[in-house]
Amino acid sequence: MALTGRTALVTGSTSGIGLAYARAFAKEGANVLINGFGEADAIEKERAAIESEFGVKALYSAADMTKPAEIASMVAEAEKAFGKLDILVNNAGIQHVSPIEDFPIEKWDAIIAINLSAAFHAIRAAIPGMKRNGWGRIISTASAHSLVASPFKSAYVSAKHAIAGLTKTAALELAGFKITVNCISPGYVWTPLVEKQIPDTMKARGLTKEQVIKDVILDAQPTKEFVTAEQVAALAVFLCTDEAAQITGANLSIDGGWTAA
Ligand code: NAD
Repeated sequence: MALTGRTALVTGSTSGIGLAYARAFAKEGANVLINGFGEADAIEKERAAIESEFGVKALYSAADMTKPAEIASMVAEAEKAFGKLDILVNNAGIQHVSPIEDFPIEKWDAIIAINLSAAFHAIRAAIPGMKRNGWGRIISTASAHSLVASPFKSAYVSAKHAIAGLTKTAALELAGFKITVNCISPGYVWTPLVEKQIPDTMKARGLTKEQVIKDVILDAQPTKEFVTAEQVAALAVFLCTDEAAQITGANLSIDGGWTAA
């Protein structure tokens, strides 16, 4: 198994792409700490399933990604429980779809906090331990929206472009320490985050649900297919292997050709 003996913390991993990362790392032998919101019973079921299916340790932290102190404590908790933290994945994210002039200020602040600042706080907290261990992998889930914009997603597009910049900066700072820093930029993956934005997109563009899926979502992707969370997770697993040691500062697209156009 590629990640035996490794430990990983994945923010926003009670659902969607984050859960797929956690399960893929565990399948390859890593102990994992999952994080995010949701029903306590459902989260405990997912955590226990990771342990029983893959024979690794799985912990859960309820840390809120809008709270810097909780983020730092979560990193410390993983280091204490596992003895070290090898892999940090900044994945928690939310979306809001609205024209700029109507964009609620609190939604802007929340998206910048969760989709961008949380990654800074987690990276900041994880670096000292990774430097001490002489090995690390930092991955952030950016988005095709780190490279191109769409109307009505001002906060999300801004945060995702900034994540790509943070990734490059951290990669340069950590290049001499055997710590790689990359971001993965998926196109549309069918998760609750995408499903939830359909009603607002219908409203903002005056379209039906079917029109939003066909003419807005899949229209962007030349393959006309959704990316799967498992495909994104497989790329993250590769980034955590020694074969990927020279990939750093990269923004890796997995978007069905969206950003090639
Ligand atoms: P999702 O809604 O399924 O998962 C989001 C996760 O973040 C959940 O576990 C949720 O509980 C957690 N979360 C939200 N707010 C939080 C907070 N304050 N503190 C802690 N956890 C919090 O969404 P997803 O589609 O799996 O998105 C995961 C990441 O992938 C996001 O960064 C998103 O921007 C990115 N992304 C998604 C797509 C897509 O099409 N789904 C495409 C590109 C990038």
